Amino acid sequence: MSLNILILGGTGDSIKLYKAIQKQMPDLKVVLSEAGITHKKNKIKKNIRVGGFGGVTGLIEHLETAQIDAVIDATHPFAAQITAHAVEACTKLKLPRLRLDRPQWIVPSETDVMFVPDAEAAARIVARTSSSAFLTIGRKTLSAFDQISGVKLLVRLIEVPPEPLKLENCTIVTGRPPFSLAAEEALMRAHRIDTLVSKASGGEATRAKIDAAAKVGARIILIRRPPAPDGDHVFSIDEAVNWVKALKKRD
Ligand code: NAP
Repeated sequence: MSLNILILGGTGDSIKLYKAIQKQMPDLKVVLSEAGITHKKNKIKKNIRVGGFGGVTGLIEHLETAQIDAVIDATHPFAAQITAHAVEACTKLKLPRLRLDRPQWIVPSETDVMFVPDAEAAARIVARTSSSAFLTIGRKTLSAFDQISGVKLLVRLIEVPPEPLKLENCTIVTGRPPFSLAAEEALMRAHRIDTLVSKASGGEATRAKIDAAAKVGARIILIRRPPAPDGDHVFSIDEAVNWVKALKKRD
C-alpha cells in the first residue's frame, strides 16, 4: 500500500517539497493544499486542493475521507491558525505530522534591529522614530498603522487590495517573492526609507530586504514569529523528503 501525504502549503517551499517528493517517490500519492487567498494560481495542476477545510473539524473530516496517512505543514511561519489546526487534527487521528520551517534570518552585524511582539508595537516605534517606513507585513495586520500621521508609508502587498487602505500618506507597491538585493536597495533609496518593518519570516525568498535595509542604513523592526508547534520539525526540503522516506520504510 502506498502512502498518502497531504502538504499544507501557501509557500514557495511547499511547492518545492511537492515537486521533490513527486520526483523522488513517484509511487507515493501527494496532494498540495492551499488556502486560495491570492488570485494567482501556481503551476501545479494535478493533486492540488484549494480553500479552507472549515476549521479543525473540517480538517479532521478531510483527513479521514481522503485517507491521508501523514501531514506536512509547510505553511508560512505566521499562518498560526492552520498550524494549530494541523496539530489538533493529527493528534486526534494519531497521524504523523512534520513541520517544515524556515531558518531565521541572521541580520548583518552593526544593523539597528529590534524584535517586537506584534504589528501594534512596530507601529508605535514607527510613529515615534520614522519619517519614511517600508511595511512588508502583509495585509492582515496593516490596520495597526491606521492612526499614524506624518510618516510616509511604503506598503508592499502581493496584490492590490480589494478596498482602499485606511493608512494616511501611503504608497502601495505590489510584488511577489523572490526579490533581488539590487531591486530592494533601489526601492528603499527611491523612497528614502529609514525603517523596514517585516515579520521575522526567515528564508531566502524575502531575505534581500534585510540586506538592502542594512546597506541603506535603515532600522529593521522584526515582528517575532508565533511559537513553532511541538513534534517533528525540519528546516530544509531535503530533511522533509528524508522524513517521508523514513515513513515509507516503516510502512
Ligand atoms: P491562517 O491564519 O493560519 O489560516 C486561516 C485559515 O485559512 C485556516 O483556518 C484555514 O481555513 C485556511 N488555510 C490556511 N492555510 C491553508 C492551507 N494551506 N490549505 C487549506 N486551508 C488553509 O493563515 P494565514 O496567515 O491567513 O495565511 C493563509 C495562507 O497563506 C497560508 O496557507 C500560508 O501558508 C500563506 N501565507 C501566509 C503568510 C502570512 O504572513 N501569514 C505569508 C505568505 C503566505 P479553515 O479553518 O477553513 O480550514
